[in-house]
Amino acid sequence: MADPAECTIKVMCRFRPLNSSEVTRGDKYIAKFQGEDSIVIGGKPYVFDRVFQSNTTQEQVYTACAQQIVKDVLGGYNGTIFAYGQTSSGKTHTMEVSEKYISKTNLSVHEDKNRVPYVKGCTERFVCSPDEVMDTIDEGKSNRHVAVTNMNEHSSRSHSIFLINVKQENTQTEQKLSGKLYLVDLAGSEKVSKTGAEGAVLDEAKNINKSLSSLGNVISALAEGSTYVPYRDSKMTRILQDSLGGNCRTTIVICCSPSSYNEAETKSTLMFGQRAK
Ligand code: ADP
Ligand code: MG
Repeated sequence: MADPAECTIKVMCRFRPLNSSEVTRGDKYIAKFQGEDSIVIGGKPYVFDRVFQSNTTQEQVYTACAQQIVKDVLGGYNGTIFAYGQTSSGKTHTMEVSEKYISKTNLSVHEDKNRVPYVKGCTERFVCSPDEVMDTIDEGKSNRHVAVTNMNEHSSRSHSIFLINVKQENTQTEQKLSGKLYLVDLAGSEKVSKTGAEGAVLDEAKNINKSLSSLGNVISALAEGSTYVPYRDSKMTRILQDSLGGNCRTTIVICCSPSSYNEAETKSTLMFGQRAK
């Protein structure tokens, strides 16, 4: 049984700079930072494990959000790093996955005889070097599904889940260690109405919103130490079950636009992050 003291869910919050269309429109920069862990929007403070201002470098974000998890995974633990936020808030930038490629969709989740969920039809690669890991990430990107919406961006309408399975064996002692790291670049969290989606795209958007709220329910149940965690409510939480909660390392980076135009979405993103605390 996992030591509850080891059950760590960290919630980090990152604000990107205003982008050119926000500047051109004359949007105001509405984020006010207080210390290293607090952000004030519309007079209301939101506190996280860390808050990153718009000029924070990738390296600073990596050091604060990922470095320890990577070490723990090499030490035999499982972990998950999520990026959550509306389209064009900086999720992919934070996870360093670009979206210029299109699609395999809607893979199904099955369980093996030990009831361990697995994704049928996903691609597995055996890798031995960092370059091979990067090539595999590129290959994964090319399978991602994107749709154009009137948010003037390629709104990603899928979650991207990248799993790094680390297996180590000490040839002298024959001791074996294995750890898993999930890197999850979530689909845009924006309200369906703002995207102007219709028909099949609208149905898909509703499904995305449903799976994001299931994820929120799982994370808040874990944060509250509930005995019941509703992992089975969505495909994604079933897939991540053995790497989310217990003695797994979990970090959520919630990504925000600092623009007055996006204030409502930013508040909703901050609220999602607060539920995990
Ligand atoms: P998302 O994946 O949430 O839709 P992206 O990561 O694609 O958003 O970011 C949208 C745009 O903003 C991209 O052009 C990206 O390079 C830029 N961007 C995002 N975050 C930052 C940042 N922290 N600093 C500078 N540019 C950023
Ligand atoms: Mg993206």
